[in-house]
Amino acid sequence: MALNEPVPTNDGLDDVTYWVTATTLFMLSALHLRRVAFPSCFCRFCNGEKLLYMNFTDAWRHDETTETLWTTPETDVAILAPHAGDIEFNTEFAAGQLHKLLRKEGYQPTTWMYHGFGENAFDEYHVSSNYLEFTQFNELSRLQDRRFRFGISFHIHEEGYVGVGGRIDEAVRSEVADRLTERLPNSKEVRYRHGEMKNKGRKESNIVNRITESGDDGLQIEMTPKTSYNYWKRVARSVRDVYVGLL
Ligand SMILES: [Zn+2]
Repeated sequence: MALNEPVPTNDGLDDVTYWVTATTLFMLSALHLRRVAFPSCFCRFCNGEKLLYMNFTDAWRHDETTETLWTTPETDVAILAPHAGDIEFNTEFAAGQLHKLLRKEGYQPTTWMYHGFGENAFDEYHVSSNYLEFTQFNELSRLQDRRFRFGISFHIHEEGYVGVGGRIDEAVRSEVADRLTERLPNSKEVRYRHGEMKNKGRKESNIVNRITESGDDGLQIEMTPKTSYNYWKRVARSVRDVYVGLL
């Protein structure tokens, strides 16, 4: 099998393509990316070792992917970074920071992050939030039958403003936007009205909405790259300030 080439199969599923990267056999089915097997890795680090599970630093070193799931049974809020690693850089740190800040306030969030690494991480590992399936990911599939009062996701976009989207009430989005405006440098524009944003996070199919009990209580933060590089802690604090009042 050649690297990064589709692999012919005779499993009868004609919409499915398999391909092989240096370490992993992936299956691509329409928009559904799924790891189906972990062949041996023959890179200079692993020397033929079978890679059954990669932690964050292994995945980082090999330009591969991994997931993080921090959960407890008594959780009201799900925090998501579906495009972390090099896909949308630093988004896992904003998510993880919010997790820790809410823990400090006595809450028990559940946090899921998907980290994909490498120069082409966005092209290789980005699955749109509107098409992301619980069953595509080992750890996320553990949340398949759970729904949370609130969902909060962190992203990066290239639109030049910080967007506060999702299906949650505009009153909540406006409050988060106010906190962000207070904390971020004056040059950062913050938008929260759906009509003024490109990535609105408003679709029912968006994982941040779908993971909530009502289906309407997702908050989707779209940072600019610079905001994510420099101010991810301030972004997490701004969200924390509003959600401690809601939870
Ligand atoms: Zn994203």
